[in-house]
Amino acid sequence: MTYSLMAKDLGGTETMSLAMLQAIDVRGLFDLKKWNRMKDSLMLCPGIGLEIGCLHLKSTGLKVAFMEDWAHIVHAAHCPLTHDNHLGVAATPKAVQKEWCTDKRQHGLPLDYIKDSIHACGCLLKEKIIYCDVAAMPISSRTANCPTSSIETTTSQVEQQLTRIMIKHHTRLVLVRSSKRHRAYKWLQEYICHRGGSIDRRGADKRRQRKSKRCGCLFRLVVQHCHDGDRVTITIHGNHTGHIPSSRADLYHLPVHSTVVAYCMDDLFDVGMCRHVAKMSISKERFHMANASELDRVIYRFFMIPKEVQMLL
Ligand SMILES: [Zn+2]
Ligand SMILES: [Zn+2]
Repeated sequence: MTYSLMAKDLGGTETMSLAMLQAIDVRGLFDLKKWNRMKDSLMLCPGIGLEIGCLHLKSTGLKVAFMEDWAHIVHAAHCPLTHDNHLGVAATPKAVQKEWCTDKRQHGLPLDYIKDSIHACGCLLKEKIIYCDVAAMPISSRTANCPTSSIETTTSQVEQQLTRIMIKHHTRLVLVRSSKRHRAYKWLQEYICHRGGSIDRRGADKRRQRKSKRCGCLFRLVVQHCHDGDRVTITIHGNHTGHIPSSRADLYHLPVHSTVVAYCMDDLFDVGMCRHVAKMSISKERFHMANASELDRVIYRFFMIPKEVQMLL
C-alpha cells in the first residue's frame, strides 16, 4: 500500500499529502518528514511487468522489497531452481543481497527474517544439529512419559504435520537429536518443547547467568522414518509441564517476530526512546499477529520489551 504510493510519489503521478498519509498509515508510523526522508533515499526504476515499478536505493542501487514479497524473495534465494539442495544459513542471505537491500535502517528485508525463514523451511533439520543435550536430562523424566498419540504419514508430509502439531499444541518445537540409520529406522529425529530440558551451568561464569527459559517441560515428539518405503511415524510423548503454553508469561520466552523487530527499528529511529518504543510495540501487537501466519502466531512473540529494544541500538 505505502509501497505503491511511494512509487507513485517518486514517479510524479501522485504527491503525498499529510491527509493521504494519515489515511493509509493506520499504524501511525509515518509523518511527512519521515516520508520525505525515505523518498530522498529512493529512486524509481521501471519494473518488468509491473505497473508501478520498483524502488531502488540511491546509495547502493539495491532493490527495496515490498513487505508482502519478502517470503517469495527469500524462498527464491533459498531454494534456487538450479540447485538440488537448499542454500544454507550463510549462503541464503548472500543470494538475497545480490539483488535486495537487507539493511533494516534502509527499509530493507531484515536478515532475521531470512534466518527465521530458513529455520522454518525445515531443510536444516535433515543435517545433524544439536541444540541441547537430551541425554543430560534425568532418566526418570524421560521414561515416565508414555506416548500419548501417534500419527502415520509420509516423508513429504512431515513438515506439514509438524506445523499442524505446533499449532495444535501451542508449542515451539526444537530439534534435539537427529540420527541417520538408527537401528530399525532410516532416520530418527527427536524434538522437544522449547522450554524442555535444562542447561548445565557447571563451570559457567556466575555473574553472567541469566534466568533460563528451560523449565524441564516433558512435551516430546519423535519422528521415525521406516526403512521400507515412504512411511513416517510421528509420536508425541508427554505433556507440557512446568509452564502453560500460549499463556502471557510463556510469551516472554518466545523469540520476537522479525517484522516486529523491523517496525521497532523504525520507531526507534524516530522516537529514540526504548521504553516508549516497547510500549508502542505492545499497542501494535494485535495488528502484527493478525498479519502473521497461524504457525508464526504460535512460535513468535509480537511485541518487544525495553531491554530488547535497547539491544537494537
Ligand atoms: Zn530449505
Ligand atoms: Zn512445553
